[in-house]
Amino acid sequence: MRYEGPIYRPPSEADSLLIQATLGCPHNKCSFCMVYKKGPRFNVRPVSEICEDIDEAFELYGAKVRSIFFPAGNTIAMPTEDLAAICLHSKMKFPALQRITVYGSSQYIVQKGLPDMRLLREAGLSRIHVGLESGDDTILKRVKKERD
Ligand code: SF4
Repeated sequence: MRYEGPIYRPPSEADSLLIQATLGCPHNKCSFCMVYKKGPRFNVRPVSEICEDIDEAFELYGAKVRSIFFPAGNTIAMPTEDLAAICLHSKMKFPALQRITVYGSSQYIVQKGLPDMRLLREAGLSRIHVGLESGDDTILKRVKKERD
């Protein structure tokens, strides 16, 4: 498996297989967040590479994998068909898989829209960790988390 840049995961993903699907964060402006300030820039890894990493993980961990987390920041922003493809490949590969999770800010979830979110759910995406810093527009502007 290949990893680039900081790899952060929530505590609840401690036992998850981590397969990097994206690099960096497409927003990368929040005043309180230093995770990707020094890079790498947001980038989506090719589906073929991600699937190679999934296949390699299968050789190593096989039937033990029950949960997968796809870093990095805001992986929900990757193209829907790519995210759906790696979810489907994961489901096909790991027979005991129960959960697939990504990070996703509300603005990128809204951009996807309901049909794409439904498609991702059907492909196996079961959880999105959302950083809810505030629902107040003034505060979101102050911490530079307003919509791009
Ligand atoms: S959206 Fe998340 S990862 Fe990106 S800069 Fe803000 S807090 Fe950091």
